[in-house]
Amino acid sequence: MCAAMRPGAPRIKVKTPIVEMDGDEMTRVIWALIKERLIEPHVDVRLERYDLGLPERDRTDDLVTVQAAEAIKRWGVGVKCATITPNEDRVVEYKLKQAWPSPNATIRAIVDGTVFRRPIVVRNVPPMVRSWARPITIGRHAYGDMYKSVEMRIRQPGKVELVFTPDDGSPPQRGVVHEFTASGIVRGTHNLDASIRSFARACIQMALSEKEDLWFSGKDTIVKIYHGAFREIFRQETDARKADFEKAGITYSYLLIDDAVARAIRSPGGFLWALMNYDGDVMSDMIAAGFGSLGLMTSVLVSPDGHFEYEAAHGTVQRHYYEHLKGRPTSTNSTATIFAWTGALAKRGELDGTPEVTRFAKALEQSVIDTIESGTVTKDLAAICQPPVAGHVTTEGFIGAVAERLATRVGQMAGAR
Ligand code: NAP
Ligand code: MG
Repeated sequence: MCAAMRPGAPRIKVKTPIVEMDGDEMTRVIWALIKERLIEPHVDVRLERYDLGLPERDRTDDLVTVQAAEAIKRWGVGVKCATITPNEDRVVEYKLKQAWPSPNATIRAIVDGTVFRRPIVVRNVPPMVRSWARPITIGRHAYGDMYKSVEMRIRQPGKVELVFTPDDGSPPQRGVVHEFTASGIVRGTHNLDASIRSFARACIQMALSEKEDLWFSGKDTIVKIYHGAFREIFRQETDARKADFEKAGITYSYLLIDDAVARAIRSPGGFLWALMNYDGDVMSDMIAAGFGSLGLMTSVLVSPDGHFEYEAAHGTVQRHYYEHLKGRPTSTNSTATIFAWTGALAKRGELDGTPEVTRFAKALEQSVIDTIESGTVTKDLAAICQPPVAGHVTTEGFIGAVAERLATRVGQMAGAR
């Protein structure tokens, strides 16, 4: 019998509601199992639930996504299941009124934040880089640079200029990009101080919350104004929080990006690496692959005013869902989705001043890690475990094994109280 269900072992109470956003396909299946087997038996939490599953988004003309985002701003902490971003195939498959936008993009636009990606480190899934003992978190700026650039193909000799025309009628500012004597290419990019500042604040908030050193890297020796502005805004914002950095026992460093790359590879991990849009795009895939599996990568949206939304970095695992629909056994890794729940619970405990909630979240995380480290793993990890494992468990088998370990741990916690 589950220890927490024994008379005298009441469920752990969470003071403030958590915004729950359900989703699609295989992750929706996992979501229900996690709630039923891992959360509800042990935790008494009011979940303000929004169903972001595609049928409900379509039924509400996507209003439900907006309502969920507003709820995150109201309550401060949300946990989200992976959702389908519909393309033309999905419009047909789900008979949609239209191809609704990505829920993550909608939520990000309303909550205003930065996305951090963080690998879950387990002993028997060795990182490709031997020195990485602790996770490396990437904070990627998600505005501007090459993703909003204007480019041109130059096919004949001529001059390319940058021209800024002030709205107030004062004289334009000009700079020659290049005097072409033959064919070539040209590109213009921009960014906004306010967006960079909001990014810097979100990174600082995250570094303080996780108590991890913060790095920011660029190439301001070459791109003196553009990258220089990022460096300067990060300097201003970190200077303003100097006392908080000292209190948390962490540091801020600006590093040239080539130096940072070399240091990251030699480092033991355990830091937050803030990167400009393109650098973050490239490095987050490098870090994800370096740490092992998509099923072990979590993602959190942090707003500058301290709102948090937790999710797995992977999608709805469509291929597994179609197997599941055919009644075949699946072996989908629920680790990152469980960690989305523990991230939200631990943060709620921290914000509410209820350490027992945070302790429960850590107990659940440890139960997952112990399960994997004991060799009970899903198929994605079975292929890369060291030492190798004999086989793999099903989706339900994995969650069941975690539930057993968790019940024991919670029983011990209740006994110790
Ligand atoms: P995906 O769901 O991330 O899955 C791609 C492949 O990666 C899977 O087929 C599976 O490989 C492996 N994989 C991912 N997560 C896994 C897990 N937890 N356990 C085991 N294997 C895992 O990406 P997708 O299939 O390209 O996208 C499906 C849907 O997800 C799309 O509609 C997309 O819009 C949506 N999506 C949502 C989010 C989000 O909500 N944050 C993010 C990305 C994509 P094998 O097939 O080899 O087993
Ligand atoms: Mg990428």
